[in-house]
Amino acid sequence: MICSGYTPPRVHAVRPALRVKAFLDAPPAIQLVPQSAWLTPKPDASWTRFVCFSDTHGLHEKIPAANQPAGDVLLHAGDFTATGRHEQVESFGRWVARYPCTDKVVIAGNHDITFDEHYYSATGADRFHQEKPYDCTQARRLLSGCTYLQDELAEVQGYTIYGSPWQPAFRNWAFNMPRGSEAAHWASTPAAVDVLLTHGPPLGCGDLTLPAGMRDGDRDLRTAIEERAISVHVCGHVHEGYGATRRGGTLFINAASSDNRHEPTNLPLVFDCPPPQVMRATAAAALQERQQSSELDSLGFHVRVEEMFSFGKG
Ligand SMILES: [Zn+2]
Repeated sequence: MICSGYTPPRVHAVRPALRVKAFLDAPPAIQLVPQSAWLTPKPDASWTRFVCFSDTHGLHEKIPAANQPAGDVLLHAGDFTATGRHEQVESFGRWVARYPCTDKVVIAGNHDITFDEHYYSATGADRFHQEKPYDCTQARRLLSGCTYLQDELAEVQGYTIYGSPWQPAFRNWAFNMPRGSEAAHWASTPAAVDVLLTHGPPLGCGDLTLPAGMRDGDRDLRTAIEERAISVHVCGHVHEGYGATRRGGTLFINAASSDNRHEPTNLPLVFDCPPPQVMRATAAAALQERQQSSELDSLGFHVRVEEMFSFGKG
């Protein structure tokens, strides 16, 4: 309520109007779709619905049907098995093939050891499958029903998706990068990517381990994302980091389906994307703003925290 005779300062009269105009001029942003809206249609038929899982660790059949929302593109950020056994790969292939999405894109994680042939022959077979070593080529063949990306790019429903399973050396598992080589690996990834799918999180987004409270993410992966106009980054690996954060124009998702007890109780994370060209223009504008901004957040990120989201368990 305004007291009679009170004249609002000019700054208050102008700033809200400018904010409304900026909002109306802004291109439509990617929208997270909470569980309560899984059955509601997308904002427009030209939009695309993505459904993200990760770290199902061979327990995909334990995910209730009610927790498997339909969409256009399913993304799985790795660790779809416990140790890459053929039986689990084949079972996951069947599960993903019948999942209610038109396209499915999958990468491996450090647990999918039969997909890292070099690691498997040097270490993995002896360490985990002494009784019966598996054939890595056969493992790859058994993963049917999806597009498998291992340092590869795919064009899916108009979006450019790049998938890479590597993470900084972690307890001698598969797809470990020797410490110090991460920057060169991420620098070698393509510059133009709409959706980046990696197994491990970048430093500062979905990487907080409990109870230690340590940030386990990859600093060089974060730098690579900051330097590119990437609209969405999807990962898993750190189960405690499950959730989504919007930073500097990029939506960061840690879709770890398994909780800390290794039960697949975390709901898939779902988001709707505007058409590729609209999404790209938004990401390019955010990159430009990031490059011109000198704001630093508490972790020293050269980006602004725009919104935070958290999700309950299903
Ligand atoms: Zn992992």
